[in-house]
Amino acid sequence: MQSFSDRADVGHFIQGRRVPGTGSRTQPIFNPATGEQARTLRLGDVADVDAAVASAKKAFVAWSETPPIRRARVMLRFLELMNKHRDELAAIITAEHGKVFSDAQGEVSRGIDVIEFACGIPQLLKGDYTEQVSTGIDNWTTRQALGVVAGITPFNFPCMVPCWMFPVAIAAGNAFVLKPSERDPSAALFMAGLLQEAGLPDGVFSVVQGDKVVVDALLVHPDVKAISFVGSTPIANYIYQTGAQHGKRVQALGGAKNHMVVMPDADLDQAIDALVGAGYGSAGERCMAISVAVLVGDVADKLIPRLAERARTLIVKNGMEADAEMGPIVTRQALERIEGYIALGVEEGASLVVDGRGLKVQGHEAGFFTGGTLFDHVTPEMRIYKEEIFGPVLACVRVKDFTEAVDLINAHEFGNGVACYTRDGHVAREFGRRIEVGMVGINVPIPVPMAWHGFGGWKRSLFGDMHAYGEEGVRFYTRQKSIMQRWPESTEKGAEFAMPTAK
Ligand code: NAD
Repeated sequence: MQSFSDRADVGHFIQGRRVPGTGSRTQPIFNPATGEQARTLRLGDVADVDAAVASAKKAFVAWSETPPIRRARVMLRFLELMNKHRDELAAIITAEHGKVFSDAQGEVSRGIDVIEFACGIPQLLKGDYTEQVSTGIDNWTTRQALGVVAGITPFNFPCMVPCWMFPVAIAAGNAFVLKPSERDPSAALFMAGLLQEAGLPDGVFSVVQGDKVVVDALLVHPDVKAISFVGSTPIANYIYQTGAQHGKRVQALGGAKNHMVVMPDADLDQAIDALVGAGYGSAGERCMAISVAVLVGDVADKLIPRLAERARTLIVKNGMEADAEMGPIVTRQALERIEGYIALGVEEGASLVVDGRGLKVQGHEAGFFTGGTLFDHVTPEMRIYKEEIFGPVLACVRVKDFTEAVDLINAHEFGNGVACYTRDGHVAREFGRRIEVGMVGINVPIPVPMAWHGFGGWKRSLFGDMHAYGEEGVRFYTRQKSIMQRWPESTEKGAEFAMPTAK
């Protein structure tokens, strides 16, 4: 297994082996806290995809025939290994992504939840059975694996998001090819090593590193039956359209702009804690981060000065330091994009209450750091309101009442997550019913559903009709088959020309 101090090039995992692949292009992998290149990634090409898919196709034959209980036992061993190596994996994530270590541990835990869910695959694959749908005839349904399936994942959760996909896919009997983010590719290889140690046959799980070249090769490959994607909305839309045109089942989760409504009766201390944690945690690089505070009535005047104080005093440093609350941004380009949005907000006329730009962290002067930023008087026409910034920038929008808050949110193009802080049961109920967003929190700022509930947004936050993991995940990675059966002893003689009906 690769140790993290290993400075060798990062390559692929195909047919149970680490291979450099045939692609000639490379890309640096940075440690965002120091700003230094840590290693070099080898970007795959079409031949690497072909090799991974061919190996997966071959492995699928025996794996899909393996009884579900035995597949579950491999998952169970993988679960034990993930628990054992949790901190090692979290350190790899912090070094390449930048998020603080405790947050990386949390991400690994949420990934582990889905592995635990996948261990129950025999129960999840159980079909329905009806005896005697007609005299002497029985009918049942089964769910069968699709074949080779692929996952394309974003930088912000290099362990958890792949775990939304492959444990369920593999446990259901598929062979899985993962294309991780090129910015933090090592967690995927680490998990590939653990799967192998758990006894997963070679070829059932592969990793092909790379960029658009690899993604496009997967999208058109005739032996890839389904694609799961998580990333930004323009790419999600592209993946959905292209994959569907090539006859694949596609589930493409896109970007977000998550609102948190604070009603006048809310517990303000809790609302402030929630906004600080969900707005600035993981440097705002979460698809469920809160990026807009919708402040109802007189809430803004009471809340903004206290929120500003918290934003100004955030502890921003290398995520491996124990007291860090926020780490660096993933890349210099992302940092520049975020700081560009802050300049845009000022141009657009929003009030810049706290400006995080230009933050220097002592001893890490070349790191990709920015502080927490807070805007007030943001309006729906502004680009800083409409577009996903994906950084530690919180925009406050003032509205007069609950109806205006709901209408504002429902008019937004994204519908991933949302929260409402209130003590009023009726408001909470109405909010849950009327809001056009896939994942709703009532006094819960980041309502990421648990492993058995399934994850997915609405509107331009999800392309395709099934959510990730949970029972929807099992449905996505399997096909239903209905079998109807009778035996000669119960079969009447003579051809029937009318549509068969129950007799
Ligand atoms: P991204 O869209 O840039 O990249 C995601 C994946 O797509 C990566 O593997 C990348 O290599 C690949 N990719 C990038 N450009 C491509 C192209 N032109 N053609 C084909 N493939 C391409 O996203 P990111 O910056 O890695 O991640 C952040 C985004 O992901 C944010 O928009 C965030 O909201 C979203 N996200 C959504 C969810 C969700 O569940 N809805 C979860 C996590 C992240």
